[in-house]
Amino acid sequence: MDYINNKFDCIVVGAGHAGCEAALASARLGLKVLLCSLNMDNIALMPCNPAIGGPAKSTLVREIDALGGQMGVTADATYLQMKTLNMSKGPAVRALRAQSDKKEYIQYMHNVIQSNSNIYLKQCCISKLLAKDDKITGAVDEYGIEYIAPTVILTTGTSLEAKIWVGLNSYQAGRLGEMPAHGLSKSLIDLGFYIKRLKTGTPQRVDKRTIDFSKMQEEYGDNELSFYSFRPDRPIRKQYPCYLTKTNEETHRIIRENLDKSPMYQGYIHAAGPRYCPSIEDKIVRFKNNPSHHIFVEPEGLSTYEMYIQGFSSSLPAEVQIKMLRTLPGLEHAHVIKPAYAVEYDYVPAVQNTHSLMTKHVKGLFMAGQINGTSGYEEAAAQGLIAGINAFNYLNKSEMLELSRSSSYIGTLIDDLVTKDIEEPYRMLTSRSEYRLLLRQDNADFRLSEIGHKIGLLDEEQYKRFLNKKETVIQEIQRLKDTKLSATDEVNQKLEQYGEHLDKGIRLAELIKRPNITYKLLQELEPETKKLNLTKDVYEEVEILIKYDGYLKRQEDQVMNAGRLEKIKIPENIDYSSIEHISTETREKLEKIRPVTIGQASRIGGVKPADLSVLMVMLERHNYSKQKDNC
Ligand SMILES: Cc1cc2nc3c(=O)[nH]c(=O)nc-3n(C[C@H](O)[C@H](O)[C@H](O)COP(=O)(O)OP(=O)(O)OC[C@H]3O[C@@H](n4cnc5c(N)ncnc54)[C@H](O)[C@@H]3O)c2cc1C
Repeated sequence: MDYINNKFDCIVVGAGHAGCEAALASARLGLKVLLCSLNMDNIALMPCNPAIGGPAKSTLVREIDALGGQMGVTADATYLQMKTLNMSKGPAVRALRAQSDKKEYIQYMHNVIQSNSNIYLKQCCISKLLAKDDKITGAVDEYGIEYIAPTVILTTGTSLEAKIWVGLNSYQAGRLGEMPAHGLSKSLIDLGFYIKRLKTGTPQRVDKRTIDFSKMQEEYGDNELSFYSFRPDRPIRKQYPCYLTKTNEETHRIIRENLDKSPMYQGYIHAAGPRYCPSIEDKIVRFKNNPSHHIFVEPEGLSTYEMYIQGFSSSLPAEVQIKMLRTLPGLEHAHVIKPAYAVEYDYVPAVQNTHSLMTKHVKGLFMAGQINGTSGYEEAAAQGLIAGINAFNYLNKSEMLELSRSSSYIGTLIDDLVTKDIEEPYRMLTSRSEYRLLLRQDNADFRLSEIGHKIGLLDEEQYKRFLNKKETVIQEIQRLKDTKLSATDEVNQKLEQYGEHLDKGIRLAELIKRPNITYKLLQELEPETKKLNLTKDVYEEVEILIKYDGYLKRQEDQVMNAGRLEKIKIPENIDYSSIEHISTETREKLEKIRPVTIGQASRIGGVKPADLSVLMVMLERHNYSKQKDNC
């Protein structure tokens, strides 16, 4: 590596959530990294909701942390509010959400990156990729300066040939106040990639001094705090409330009357937007019988008056936005600091990547984040981490890290991206995982710490801490199975407060299986449990593993069964045109995606089960898998 001559081990294009994780992972593993951004003051910017986590996304953050990534640590250090959502529901859907101080988050991430001596920062616009013999060799910026590296990770977010819309006015920009990235899309097409367009949007930012909070409902964080990172020493910070208000008939009327000024409804924007984060005009049109929609008003940080209006994203004209906003209780006199807008951008459908996130036909070139068709900071960070690790693995000729669907949401996310044609921004949802009972936010360290440690990103100290936790959980489960609680009057008096009663003694592990009984209650009922004084993360794990034992075992069996198909490999050189008796649609899909296993083939939309059977017979007959193994 010779930075004087612009030579690096890895170039990371983009310093958003994917880029930061990619740069940190590869640099921590020892690569010399050039990290490029259109604007160095906006490292790890949250251009939309200033919040990390929520359903499924919180599990991604915990998985990133268990593998030795950065997002969880930064979110823990910069929160304005921490809240566990769905507490009354099952553990598979419980989700931590951190309202973040947006500027502190940027500053914290900036400091972490700057203090890594393997990372060299560069504010520039990469406009061309260099490749030779189907291998990446570097990149060129807008001034024609060449940067040489055997690996490049593209994490360009919403910037590629991006266009912002406010009403029928449009201009070229990746995010409000930031230039778009020109040239890279063409360079990718020249290298043989195909590109499509997507759209997303963000709501207004309003001056908090012009809001009447007394007309809104306050929403507080948790009293007993949970954190993202499994590492200790998380700061206890003062928490701040969010606020709830709602739309009404007047809001809906203004929106309906102005749909002719919407670039979406007038057909100027053709790209699909995020189905699970619709604009307010979409909500009014699609759910026309709904008289009102919830709108959350959330702080963006302690050093700014900007409040984020969640649920009110729009691409209507700025003056219409003000009118509709002022119909909301508490926002009658609102002053808008930044308008809502929609942005259209290029993405590179990720079926052109392998599970390692390296592209199929340019070796050494990786893609992560929104460029792969996803939406969301956590989804981006998760991919960035994997791309960063695999850039290192590729250079060192080590085995690529490809997480399975049953190991993690990260594995599920990447498998979906490289297997399915994504036609709208992909967001992680618990329903996307067939194993969601096993893939919980509470057990991400159990699932992935071993891998994080083996890769070299999870340090010895943290790994030992995890092993201790694991041992304590195992021992405590055994102790609860062995310890009997007598049916004394005192015990029954306490139990009756929770609608329970004991006729005879019972083992603690049996008692905790009852729906009304928690580990915390056992601490009150039984002196030894109290004396142990286990930490919340440990006793929650114990409680979940005992309470849901039957369901978990069933899902583990499901993983075993599905594993059979994942083990049947399809050779890289297979010629689908030579296979008779499969439908044209299946053949076209298999040819396009080129799945690596029968399991992956079975998840491709349009691939018929009968055709898969033909393929399996043919693989067996020609002993294709064996040939591959012998190579
Ligand atoms: C208007 C808007 C609304 C959004 N709404 C939502 C939402 O509702 N829900 C949701 O989950 N997510 C939303 N997002 C998406 C969320 O911001 C992204 O998914 C997430 O930030 C993507 O992370 P990333 O790392 O892929 O890209 P980003 O965080 O966007 O970072 C991209 C980085 O690449 C740099 N870059 C780009 N091109 C070049 C180049 N050629 N050379 C050098 N540097 C380059 C940029 O400067 C930036 O540092 C929204 C984003 C925007 C802009």
